[in-house]
Amino acid sequence: MQVPFRDDKPTASPLTDRFGRQIRYVRLSVTDRCDLRCVYCMSERMTFLPRARVLTLEELALLGRTFVELGASKLRVTGGEPLVRRNILWLFQELGQLRERGLAELVLTTNGSQLERMAADLKAAGVARINISLDTLDPVRFRRMTRTGELDAVLRGIRAARAAGFERLKLNAVILKGRNHDEVVDLARFAIENGLDISYIEEMPLGVVADHDRAEVYYSSDAIRADLERIFTLTPTTESTGGPARYYRVPGTDSRIGFISPHSHNFCDTCNRVRVSAEGRLLLCLGQEHSVDLRHVLRAHPGDRERLKQAIVAAMTIKPHGHAFQPGGPVTILRAMNHTGG
Ligand code: SAM
Ligand code: SF4
Repeated sequence: MQVPFRDDKPTASPLTDRFGRQIRYVRLSVTDRCDLRCVYCMSERMTFLPRARVLTLEELALLGRTFVELGASKLRVTGGEPLVRRNILWLFQELGQLRERGLAELVLTTNGSQLERMAADLKAAGVARINISLDTLDPVRFRRMTRTGELDAVLRGIRAARAAGFERLKLNAVILKGRNHDEVVDLARFAIENGLDISYIEEMPLGVVADHDRAEVYYSSDAIRADLERIFTLTPTTESTGGPARYYRVPGTDSRIGFISPHSHNFCDTCNRVRVSAEGRLLLCLGQEHSVDLRHVLRAHPGDRERLKQAIVAAMTIKPHGHAFQPGGPVTILRAMNHTGG
């Protein structure tokens, strides 16, 4: 009797790169526009993309669906500021339905300024988790770092998100020497008192921003951790939210404290992600220019799902091994974070 051949090996995802890394996480930048002008992200006078060059909401929904069909299990909506895009809830509702097709997590990164009015609808659409950027708790500094923002709007947004039932809200704080590095302890305290997680981010050299010298403001994760350890006990964990942050717990609290350290702790070996820029450029690495123009594929061959899938799968072969950021080093990537989808 012939024994039927059985292959018990798990099927490799079509989204696997040359280094064997499986891409399960896609970050979609849904706009380059924003209601803030954070000093490390944008120039004060920004020229935004002409609307025709930005993907439509329908194109974004189709991309999300295609990535999930190819094996992506986590989608993050980011920007620019996603919540300033008109009709953005429609996109969240469309992407939320992908949970029935294999999407494990739909998540959002926002500056929080519009959350007060949108948190409940985002929850209803199926958003699982929200990261909120907050670099300072001082209203005057907040205005200085964001150039246009109002701290209280973000604090109201955080409260609204909690009231809407978002449980593990996470703060993202970019720490700059001489601007807010003396607030790392206060930010951690705020997170702990409000039952939030917090990640501290080293500034990355993306885009040239006038009046902002990145070398001058570099403040390493090790320095931040040393500041925190003067006040708190930090216990290392192996926990992960699927991203590059290394997490610590503060015993006796619910909060996790994370460090995203592109300079001091390279996280490229385990990279599981790609980004789609607001213009539909599939960016294979945050710190390199390797990319594929998916907008061209979408617009030159409307409705041709197979061609779109082939373009995405083929792009995996050009995913570079890693970035080459140097602390305070030259800016080699000219696209800004709001284009890239941070
Ligand atoms: N507008 C939303 C926000 O601020 O959360 C989403 C887009 S923003 C580009 C995403 C994240 O990138 C924010 O946490 C922001 O602080 C961070 N970011 C922007 N420019 C950065 C830079 N040059 N280096 C490190 N992080 C940066
Ligand atoms: Fe806007 Fe976010 Fe960039 Fe700040 S970091 S300017 S909030 S896109």
